[in-house]
Amino acid sequence: MPDNSPKSSRRSFVATGATALLAADIRTGTFFRRDHDLVIRNGIVFDGTGAEGREMDVAITGDRIVEIAPKVHARGREEIDARGLAVAPGFIDIHSHGDSNMESDPRVESVIRQGVTTMVVGADGSSRANGSPEQSFASWFAAVDALKPGPNVASMVGLGTLREVVIGDMDRPATADEVSRMAAMVDSALKDGACGASSGLEYTPGAFASRDELIALSRPLAARRLPYATHMRNEDDRLMEAIEESIAVARGAGCPLQISHLKTQGPRNWAKLDKVFLLIDAARAARTDVAFDRYPYVAYATGLTNLFPVWSRDGGIDQFLARVSDAATATRIHTEMLAKVELIGGWDNVQLSGVKAVEDRDAEGKRLGAYAKSHALDPYAATIGLLTRSKGDVGMLGYAMSEDNLEHILSHPLGMVCSDGGGFAIDGPTRRGSPHPRGAGTFPRVLGRYVRERKVLTLAQAIKKMTSQPAARIRLSDRGRLAAGLAADVVVFDPSTVSDKATFNAPFQYPVGISVVIVNGVVALRDGQRSAIGSGRGVKAS
Ligand SMILES: [Zn+2]
Repeated sequence: MPDNSPKSSRRSFVATGATALLAADIRTGTFFRRDHDLVIRNGIVFDGTGAEGREMDVAITGDRIVEIAPKVHARGREEIDARGLAVAPGFIDIHSHGDSNMESDPRVESVIRQGVTTMVVGADGSSRANGSPEQSFASWFAAVDALKPGPNVASMVGLGTLREVVIGDMDRPATADEVSRMAAMVDSALKDGACGASSGLEYTPGAFASRDELIALSRPLAARRLPYATHMRNEDDRLMEAIEESIAVARGAGCPLQISHLKTQGPRNWAKLDKVFLLIDAARAARTDVAFDRYPYVAYATGLTNLFPVWSRDGGIDQFLARVSDAATATRIHTEMLAKVELIGGWDNVQLSGVKAVEDRDAEGKRLGAYAKSHALDPYAATIGLLTRSKGDVGMLGYAMSEDNLEHILSHPLGMVCSDGGGFAIDGPTRRGSPHPRGAGTFPRVLGRYVRERKVLTLAQAIKKMTSQPAARIRLSDRGRLAAGLAADVVVFDPSTVSDKATFNAPFQYPVGISVVIVNGVVALRDGQRSAIGSGRGVKAS
């Protein structure tokens, strides 16, 4: 089964017998009436395969699409007029952190408002479940179903999380026994429906994994054709080595490779993109299945500690802060950190996005150079002060990417759209800090800025990169396309107005031009206004 559909009549019957079958059939309308639950009329239907749009009606009953035709004759209990609008499969965000606030606000509003109906979490080496009996993916999926989030949620298993559980924060090789324990956890996660394995090789403790360890832990992916998805060891000066390592891991394990948020960071590395594509082409010619994703912004978001070398962060924040003030290591850390800031283009290319310490809240949203100046501090000293008072919990945005390269990455046939963003709302407990606007703007930004305005790709191509392409990558066999029998995840938007509104300075703004979002047959957004909540569930790779 591709997912845990509570509405599946077969499953209900198996579970509770004939009464449930009767009830299910009343709802799905199979025997007792011929109308559909919902018909979307006269929209330009893009099926997600890259085919051009055609004017069609789409009928939904229960949680399934039941008919797509130039004219659906049966009436819908509910009807939506989509004349002049695009009707597409709900978007699938293949690299999301939208679960970060999911428990405090299950609406995951900024994700739903973008037309995203499935978010893929467990990215960058970090997942909520770990495949152990105590934290299995089966129980995690059950918890997601019980939470009833706005969007569907799929997850990879995070290899950094496994390392943390089995080895801890230490920078040392895994023993053979530890490798086999971690590989068994990956296997268990995949059996339970995880849709890939992710690494975050710029984060600790995931960064301490060797190439051989990554190969061993990716082997269980091969038979299932699920991807090893990697936030690579480096995305700037050693980008080519990092790509080579990623390809070597996938080749060694025999599994597909998904390079997460592909970028060429720092102006002096912008010219490397053609070489990156050549390496990927060569790997594919040698039968390693490589693809990648990218968010449509020229600034990235990460922890402020990421400006510091990995070795200085070994063992966690307390050890890091000790090394910063230890005469034996302080100078080297200072030098390497300044080199990283120079690579990005200077202190004012670093924007502080979220600060844990209450007394430093005035720093949020400020450029680091300007913040230091306003406090009459040296920027390096200001950085250390912020990290000390927040125990390392400081977020940053780095403005270090080329828009020209971004356009080439997005429009490349192997490129998919991801947000890499969090989920939040403009109201309620998740409106806090200064998050990266990609959490509210990614998908409409691609459709508005890069399809309509800059014409970097066609609407049909962009939709494919948001739907069938990621669905095939993570084996969600009944999502990502509009066809009879598939899950009723649908988005309706106006190609002439769809736009992101969230910015780096004002991220708490929903996009415009997206009028209807349907998740599992439930209308979550209608006329651009919030409708039913609780439409999502855990979805598993098949
Ligand atoms: Zn990442």
